[in-house]
Order: sequence, then structure tokens, then C-alpha cells
Amino acid sequence: MELVLLALMGWLVGALVNRMADNLPAQRSFLSAPQCPYCGTLRPVGDQLAVLRFLLRRGYCSNCHAPIGLRAPLVEIANASAYVFLWTRYGATLQWLLLAIYTTIFLLVLVTDWEHRLVFNVVILPAIVFAVLASPFSNLGWQRALLGGVGAFVIVFAIYIFSLVFSRVRRIEIAGGAFGQGDVTLATFVGIVTGFPAVFAAIVYAILLGGVGAILVLAYELLMHRRLALTATIPYAPFFCIAGWVVMVFPNGIWG
Ligand SMILES: [Zn+2]
Repeated sequence: MELVLLALMGWLVGALVNRMADNLPAQRSFLSAPQCPYCGTLRPVGDQLAVLRFLLRRGYCSNCHAPIGLRAPLVEIANASAYVFLWTRYGATLQWLLLAIYTTIFLLVLVTDWEHRLVFNVVILPAIVFAVLASPFSNLGWQRALLGGVGAFVIVFAIYIFSLVFSRVRRIEIAGGAFGQGDVTLATFVGIVTGFPAVFAAIVYAILLGGVGAILVLAYELLMHRRLALTATIPYAPFFCIAGWVVMVFPNGIWG
């Protein structure tokens, strides 16, 4: 029973994530009602949970019949499953609550960066402050959390500055090599929630995942369009989110 309630709660919070991911890039107020991106019609109340919308309307707008992307139902399902999964691992603890909150933040950042290449300061900066304030109550303790945050900031900021200088000197856009400012703040958040020294594993995984992603994109471009898209940049933030989440939830390794 409690797992059903948890899934329901995760589902509703997932719907909020979708709302923010729609509203932030459009510079609408945080929680304004969802609307169809094609005809602008406000979604009817019964349509606001994307999973239901998909089941009832097969993913089409009720007004203009434009297709609705898969992102919204996937986010709702992912958030709900994560809340339940974390509960089976941590039970009714403060640690569960913190990891559930961080999971939702990771999801929101992943979606906005994937879709718009943007990590919103209005999301990540309060998240950093919250994670610092909550760190004494986490399993990590505040020392490891703060050390992790500072360590991640220093490393990723150094890479950011280095690639900035390098691209100025060489007058080229580095293909996928450059981190953006959003990656620096996101990495700091990852550092606080994974702690020292686990954060270094998270950074390495994120860069490896980003590299694999870049190779796949290049291979795809080469096969489909017979050209090498060397100027394409990698959105690193989604990989930081995935790697950060995995290391946060499995601090001793997935098989540990
Ligand atoms: Zn529509």
C-alpha cells in the first residue's frame, strides 16, 4: 500500500517537473498551467498527467491533434519508479527524502539541458544551497559533502577555464570538449550530493558517458549524412545527472 502511495506521489511530482521544464525556457511563471506548444490551448485538467493523457488520447492534443512528445510520460514514470526504488533501499528515512528530492532535481536539469542546452540558475543554485544546508542530516555528513562540492567545482571550473582559453588561442570551437557554466554549477551540486571522494568517480563517468555519446553522434552523422560534424557540442549536463545519480544512490558501486 505504501508503495502505491509513493508511486502516486512520485508521479505527481514528475508532472510538476514536466511543468517546470515547459515553463522555464519559455520564461513563464514556474507553475503556470501546461498548454499545447502548437495551438496554445491550455491542457484540460484531466489531461495534465501525461501518462493518463497517453493512455486516454494516445498522446494527441485534444484540440489540434498535434502529437505530444514522449518526454512528459517518461519523466512521470521515471520519477515514480525512482521514489519506489529508493524506498526499497532506504525505507522511511531522512536519507530517502533527501535522495528523492535530489532525484527530482537531476531529472529536471537533465530534461532542460537535453532539450535546450540550459541548466537554469533558478533551479541549480537553490538546489546547491539546499543540499549544503541538508548535508549534516545526510548519510554523507557535512564534511564529505562540502569537500565533494568544492572538489568538483575546482576540477570542472579548471577544465572550463582551460577550454575557454584554448579555444580563444586556437580560435576554434572545441568539438564537445568544452564545459559550459551550467556544467560547473551542476558538477558542484553533484559533488555535494555524492561527497568526497565518490564525486571523482561521478565526474569520470560523466566524461566517459559524454565521450561515448559524442562518438555515437559522430558515427550516426557519418553513416546517415556522410559528414563529420566536428563542431557539434556534447550536452554534458545530462551525463552529469545520470552519473551523479548512480554514484549518489550506489556509493559503493552498483554491485557493491
Ligand atoms: Zn494543440
